[in-house]
Amino acid sequence: MKLFDVTNELVKSFRRIRSELNDPASINLRLRIVGARDTTSRQYELPTGSELEGLKRITSVHPKFDALHFPVLFPYGEDGFHVTIPYDPVHTPKTLKRKHVTQREYYAYRLQHRDDEGQTLMRGGKALQHYVVDAYSTIEQNRLYYLRSHQENLRSELYYGDAVGHVVLPSSHTGSPRYMKQLYLDAMAVVHHHGSPDLFITFTFQKRGLPHVHILLWLDAKNKLRQASDIDATVSAELPDPLLDPIGYDAVTKFMLHGPCGQDNPTNVCMKEGSCSKYFPKPFNSETTTDQFGYTVYRRRDTGITAVKGTAILDNRFIVPYNRNLLVLFQAHINVEVCHQGRLIKYLFKYITKGPDRKQRLSRILARDSVSETTLTQWFYLNQRDPTARDLLYAETPNRYIWNVKTKKWAPRKRGFSIGRIVYIHPGCGDTFYLRQLLTKVRGSVSYADLRQSMDSHVETYQDACQRLVFCLMMMNGYL
Ligand SMILES: [Zn+2]
Repeated sequence: MKLFDVTNELVKSFRRIRSELNDPASINLRLRIVGARDTTSRQYELPTGSELEGLKRITSVHPKFDALHFPVLFPYGEDGFHVTIPYDPVHTPKTLKRKHVTQREYYAYRLQHRDDEGQTLMRGGKALQHYVVDAYSTIEQNRLYYLRSHQENLRSELYYGDAVGHVVLPSSHTGSPRYMKQLYLDAMAVVHHHGSPDLFITFTFQKRGLPHVHILLWLDAKNKLRQASDIDATVSAELPDPLLDPIGYDAVTKFMLHGPCGQDNPTNVCMKEGSCSKYFPKPFNSETTTDQFGYTVYRRRDTGITAVKGTAILDNRFIVPYNRNLLVLFQAHINVEVCHQGRLIKYLFKYITKGPDRKQRLSRILARDSVSETTLTQWFYLNQRDPTARDLLYAETPNRYIWNVKTKKWAPRKRGFSIGRIVYIHPGCGDTFYLRQLLTKVRGSVSYADLRQSMDSHVETYQDACQRLVFCLMMMNGYL
């Protein structure tokens, strides 16, 4: 407390005003902590002016917000974020139009160790964690405020539906339903191109307060796990021999033993209704096989090798599958599993697609100025001028061409590789849905009409064109 009395200007001000107020001679006294000079900011929510018995609420963009909230972290009452912090002119690209540091940039800068700076904040322990969580929520709150107040200016995806009475979050807003859906669709496009992933890795950082991570790995064709011996060389569910591999044995014992659960420990986290929800202990198994559903059943031989966990003695029936080298290298719980075809990706995405908010007629989308030059109209144009592009489906175009956002043109790809996909369209969207279906089958179209009439020059709608296409495909394949 004494320290604050000496160092903190805010504390000094409050103390001074308290003593003044106690003086019967004082009248109409006010303490005003002057905030941001720029009150025209459209990016951040500014004071709403709610007053509480003479106290005024300040917002998260007030320079003294952090100092008032966390006096221990800012013992001098230092300024925190405010909306008029200029960029360093030397290190800022000339192309940047924005003049002032954003809230996210400010906190990203603060949360770094620097040798030439005091360490009060970074050594703040639980107060630091509180500060980080608060920073995250104020950034999120201000972003949401911005989106709420700029609905009409946002990109075309917001135009789906008339958005009356509800706020639409664009897919660029991290964590929004549209963002999650985009990730999911990207993942499905990758699976479409590369096939199912080969390995599923779950990495957990025990007791370090950090989150876990799921990793899907696609192996190169020459490294695919084709037979049981390939799997055994990559994934093991057995304790290493402590005499032959003491380091491996130690790591598995430390990180990859399941339980104890069941009768030995009925209250373990895995226990659901009296039995282990992860089906441990697994039965002994002399060799790696695949079960009737396509899941890999790992080799768990009855080797007599055991490990002690708590008071329990555990054997190969309790080992969570792992890769020996990964485990020894990272010294953390790393579960490595052979992927089962296709199902896993969906499991990773808890968000389930629900279709668009409102239906919209194709003519209205096409009539919008902002879509006069899209990747699709430019694909038509590319097909007109470049014969080699005509072998590609619309979604395959990014494999060989690159989309230039500035010029709005497809240009031949000189290096690198990209996987394309077409935006998801709900079947309830009418002709737009059929337009999308056509794009997954028809190559080399040079216009909307050309795409629509790819099978028959008399059709009027994309739905008719789709039916025509299906009819032709069935004819070709001998179904009709
Ligand atoms: Zn269990």
